[in-house]
Amino acid sequence: MKTLGLYIDFPFCIARCAFCAFDVEGYRVRWAERYMAALHQEIETYAASPETAGRQITSIYLGGGTPSRYPAAVLDKLLSRCRDRFEIAGDAEITLEAHPATINVHNLTDFQKTGINRLSLGMQSFSDEQLQRLGRRHTAEQAVTAFQTARIAGFENIGIDLIYGLPDEKTEGWENTLRQAIALSPEHISIYALSIEAGTLFNRKVREGKLNLPKEVETVMLYERARKLLTCADYKQYEISNFAKPGYESRHNLRYWHQEAVRAFGVSGHSYLNGERSVNTDNIPDYIEKLEAGLLPVIEREKVSPRDAAIDQIIFGLRKIEGIPSEAITHDPIFKQTGQTLEDAGLLQKEAQRIKLTPKGMHFADEVAMAFL
Ligand code: SF4
Repeated sequence: MKTLGLYIDFPFCIARCAFCAFDVEGYRVRWAERYMAALHQEIETYAASPETAGRQITSIYLGGGTPSRYPAAVLDKLLSRCRDRFEIAGDAEITLEAHPATINVHNLTDFQKTGINRLSLGMQSFSDEQLQRLGRRHTAEQAVTAFQTARIAGFENIGIDLIYGLPDEKTEGWENTLRQAIALSPEHISIYALSIEAGTLFNRKVREGKLNLPKEVETVMLYERARKLLTCADYKQYEISNFAKPGYESRHNLRYWHQEAVRAFGVSGHSYLNGERSVNTDNIPDYIEKLEAGLLPVIEREKVSPRDAAIDQIIFGLRKIEGIPSEAITHDPIFKQTGQTLEDAGLLQKEAQRIKLTPKGMHFADEVAMAFL
């Protein structure tokens, strides 16, 4: 049976973080309710279309934004609609992105009852100074309490997100964050390099010369340090930024790296299904108004050509530590030549009929992708 992953976006947050360039707004009840009604409408529309017929849902990802800001009863109703309208696998992975400042023993217990069986906690750092700089609205202690409370509430699959390369960050501070994360023993740890995006507070501070960021070579060392510490703590790296205990890889995210079908609902939703890509509007009022008028919020739709699909397989597949089958590159003379050039530059390596990034290549994954594009 064909499978499908569902992604549902909730573009509301308790405050905008200093580094965040996502299309999010402050949580206001009336607005959030209208958005939720629009989400129900979009789900109804696609559930009735033939494109999802005969597919079993194996993962649902509630992301954002801060979906954990919504009351559990509201998310429960949305998941119930998904269950009514789609065939959901009994062991489907259902993830909730949670901001530590929005969860407590009461809503965590209720979230658990909705069938959500995986939490992705945005901890980002265990340094209060860094958390304050990032505009996170929680302390390290509150984040630890949130994690422990989630365990008490019964969550057995918890992922932690961390950011490295923060202003003034030194190896010692990053190691401290990693060690504290490891001490909590989450099933999954993601590490992302701080990226300075246009329109963010950090971007303005960089332009004003008020942010002292580590040099690229220092950031590379922080990444290597993380790989070493996490691997020594029995976390297996399965993607450039992701580490998991055995059996706890994010099944939903693996769908993207395997180019498997995903139907995304909500603002900025990117879907890939039946050889077609589509993108929803990134404007919240536009999204709501279109659905209220009985229209779809899609702003882009394109058939994926065989060549684009082959390039996607290379670009997304190379993000996985296991890499891709060699023939994904060798079957095409241009890919083959590009692959050889990258191998000569020490960015790609061949291993048992597969091609993967070298440790050096992991730092230049974007450049490798551009070479194939
Ligand atoms: S909580 Fe997440 S989505 Fe919301 S502003 Fe912060 S980083 Fe962005």
